Amino acid sequence: MKGSTALNHLKASKINVAIDGPAGAGKSTVARMVAERLGYVYVDTGAMYRAVTLKALREGVPDDERERLTALAEKTDIRLVVHPDGQRVMMDGEDVTEQIRSAEVTSRVSAVAAVPALRSVLVALQRAMAEDKGVVMDGRDIGTNVLPQAEVKVFLTASVRVRAERRWKEIKGKQPGVTLESLMDAIEKRDRSDSERETSPLRRADDAVEIDTSNLHIDEVVDRILALCRTSLGGRAR
Ligand code: C5P
Repeated sequence: MKGSTALNHLKASKINVAIDGPAGAGKSTVARMVAERLGYVYVDTGAMYRAVTLKALREGVPDDERERLTALAEKTDIRLVVHPDGQRVMMDGEDVTEQIRSAEVTSRVSAVAAVPALRSVLVALQRAMAEDKGVVMDGRDIGTNVLPQAEVKVFLTASVRVRAERRWKEIKGKQPGVTLESLMDAIEKRDRSDSERETSPLRRADDAVEIDTSNLHIDEVVDRILALCRTSLGGRAR
């Protein structure tokens, strides 16, 4: 089947695509582009954990008060809304797209995301979003836990330095005082807590395809994932 024909088939007969990997591996950019090419919905699960973290910070709930954190997640209305300028993250009706990217939220989110009951609340929402298929979802546990039946699973990696350099370019000028070294430290710390936590740690699913993005252009990564989507279509049609 020719590439464009296969893409049209994928638009009509939808699949789910799971993209996992550590911070800064390029997941959100790549996932957004894959979703756009397929006409699918992009779901940024990290944004959901970040929104709950922002609320915990505002309400002064500490990391060790796990029940309060879970209750907070339960009563928070989190929506990912399609907008002409890209996806907006709405928390209880407020647009928090920029605020959830602050250094304060970033440094706390892994601790909040390590609370098992809180994860269950968000995982249920994520599964509901993917129920009708046609979703490209990125996170840490999508292929292993949220959507183990996803037709395409990808695990994106890149060296710590490359990942820190990417973040550096994103935030340069916006967060004075942040250095490349401090970003490398923060990324290593977040990798550690995400990989070592007990519930749904960051791990490549056995059937996920690993792509090291360190020396690849974004378009190449997107093309590889689209090729995997086409292959999955072929497998199902047979
Ligand atoms: O993807 P992003 O870097 O925005 O994710 C922020 C944090 O949310 C991660 O460091 C991780 O602690 C948590 N997370 C998670 N499971 C997911 C997505 C994100 O634990 N599926």
